[in-house]
Amino acid sequence: MHDPIKLLSTDFDGTLHEESDEPPIPFPAQRMIGRMQARGVIWVINTGRDLPSLLDSLVRARFPNRPDFVVTVEREIHERRDSTYIGWADWNSRCGKAHERIFAQVRSDMPRLANWINRRFEAKVYEDTYSPLCLIAQSSQDADVIHDYLNDYCSNVPNLTVVRNHIYARLSHADYNKGSALAEIARRVGVTPGETAAAGDHLNDLPMLSTTRARWLIAPSNAVEQVKALVRQQNGYVSDQPHGYGLARGLEQIEMSCRCD
Ligand SMILES: [Mg+2]
Repeated sequence: MHDPIKLLSTDFDGTLHEESDEPPIPFPAQRMIGRMQARGVIWVINTGRDLPSLLDSLVRARFPNRPDFVVTVEREIHERRDSTYIGWADWNSRCGKAHERIFAQVRSDMPRLANWINRRFEAKVYEDTYSPLCLIAQSSQDADVIHDYLNDYCSNVPNLTVVRNHIYARLSHADYNKGSALAEIARRVGVTPGETAAAGDHLNDLPMLSTTRARWLIAPSNAVEQVKALVRQQNGYVSDQPHGYGLARGLEQIEMSCRCD
């Protein structure tokens, strides 16, 4: 069969994997991705998680296939070599330096931002390796208000942005996100956006859910409205099924539409 898709980029949590499902990666998605990889399609997991957490969840999900590439913390690229993942040193180093520079500019403002949040909300605000300010809000509603506040702050700092996923948020350099990381992988493996599919469910997926990155776009039924609207606007597929079930449906639809061409 002629494969319309040569590169598949899937978000992990909420798009492929749902902890409360059994199995967490549903069988239709396992079969579909397994078949695609067997035909030579390159599979990228494009996630906000770090690498150990992602690999641990893949083991626990009992899905034997492994992605060819992993994008972690929405920006760092790793390539599979046999059973391990090797970071792309040049991209990851450029990415790391850009973040060091921009975080050095804003670090002294972080206590003020944390105080603003802590005075108004029961939220966890902390610094980690990836951001001088990380947020875990108690609810999406709280996170919405805090997100607006952080967006206002970022609007005064060139190239600083907020990366939001449900109740979680962190700061990031605007040039490094799921979309730019996907574009870099595509460029280096020689695949065009016209041969790429991308699937996601939340705001941190928006940069890759664009036809400038991927011709085929998929959102599961649990995707937030902004994601569904963007995918629909670009003639993508919004499933009535959740998580990996919706992803599998979307991939089937792409195959079927290409058989009819
Ligand atoms: Mg997600």
